[in-house]
Amino acid sequence: MNDDTIAAIATAIGASSIGIIRISGNDAGKIANKVFRAKSGVSLLERPSYSISYGSAIDENNNMLDEVLALTMWAPHSFTGEDVVEIQCHGGTIVLRSILELILRTGARLADPGEFSKRAFLNGKLDLSQAEAIMDIINAKTETALYAAANNIQGDIKKEITDIRMNILRLIAYLEADIDFPEEDINRLTDQEVYEQLQQIEEDIKILIETFKSGRILREGLKTVLIGRPNVGKSSIMNAFLKEKRAIVTDIPGTTRDVIEEYYNIKGMPLILVDTAGLRDTDDIIEKLGVERTKDELEKADLILYVFAITELQSEADLLQLEDIPKDKLIVLINKHDLLKDREHEEKILRILSGYKVVLLSATENYGIEELKETIIKQYDVHGMEINKKPLITNTRHKDALLKGQQAIRGAKNSVNDKMPSDFISIDLRQALLSLGEISGETLEEDIVEQIFSQFCLGK
Ligand code: GDP
Repeated sequence: MNDDTIAAIATAIGASSIGIIRISGNDAGKIANKVFRAKSGVSLLERPSYSISYGSAIDENNNMLDEVLALTMWAPHSFTGEDVVEIQCHGGTIVLRSILELILRTGARLADPGEFSKRAFLNGKLDLSQAEAIMDIINAKTETALYAAANNIQGDIKKEITDIRMNILRLIAYLEADIDFPEEDINRLTDQEVYEQLQQIEEDIKILIETFKSGRILREGLKTVLIGRPNVGKSSIMNAFLKEKRAIVTDIPGTTRDVIEEYYNIKGMPLILVDTAGLRDTDDIIEKLGVERTKDELEKADLILYVFAITELQSEADLLQLEDIPKDKLIVLINKHDLLKDREHEEKILRILSGYKVVLLSATENYGIEELKETIIKQYDVHGMEINKKPLITNTRHKDALLKGQQAIRGAKNSVNDKMPSDFISIDLRQALLSLGEISGETLEEDIVEQIFSQFCLGK
């Protein structure tokens, strides 16, 4: 299936000091050798794995296109597991394209998006969760998100899932030995022991599922809505809150400020402000909250910051606006604290807001902002996850597979409780095995694998 040789530009397009073209497949060496002339005169095909040759890229008419380096990585010791040659040239759009086109004319085919990674997966160099971690590394929005992805590329999830699957498999072996050789004198597990093992397996799955709460946020960003009546200080809070914490990527000179710009780095957690144009400036928020679209926004949000100005907040009647908002994702911000005239008013406000998570702050005097960040971080427990030690489920696909696995284990537990025969339990366990196997890609259907890789970027 993989007998053709593919090539693509592996670096971003635009002027930069170097660009890389990657070639992978049976003919990678032969094709690269045709377009590359080494200064030393040594053919690329004679070079060992992991060696670098200096020379030029030369087209069919003997025109030199650029001075380049060629890296050889022969099968199976390469990213894809196939013969791979990477050509490093200068990073201009035209030079990269000219060399790529030359390589394509020489016999390679343009790679599909994600095709290098797909080949690595098909050749057993990585499992699907590791391949997905590559994309998470590329798209990481903060360092914390990067650490989590880097652990996953090392196979942390893979290892955890393999361990759980081994435990399930062992239990199946016991149960099926019982079915196949009922008379044999084998070491039988009591119902109680089977149940306890199932309980432990379910617990292991549950712990992983629970990491998704923080994991998803690390990967996708905390979707945050900032609302309140006009003039309470929403824009000022935004400025104070987010001023020094722009997403890391945008701080690097020369990187493009596109989508990434919407992400802010709050102590390692990426935060994304959902477009609340319709919400942010309306005189009648209560009426607005009735509007379906607005409700929808609030439902999708992970965090709702509702702003009041301390000077305008008088009685419980003012809190009517909060009624429709789920408390578990709400933080009430009492802004303009610097204008507070007497302590009693503060005490009164805190009293009527008891039961809510409240942060007092002043956007213009710049206090309370740190506390707000701490409150957010604590609520989502991103650091409590000890990301460097535990695998973190960051991907919805993985979480769904775990949920299916958990469901099947629960089915097995019920069967034990109902004193069903072993083969009933075994069926559920096999289902759990299949569901968890989707994470590594082992038990996933081919078209779904295709679809996952097609979301990767070109050249990856
Ligand atoms: P928005 O309409 O909710 O976005 O409110 P703005 O951020 O535009 O602020 C409205 C006015 O309140 C501006 O004049 C701000 O300078 C002022 N303001 C905002 N936050 C504070 C604060 O903490 N203390 C004081 N004294 N004034 C503030």
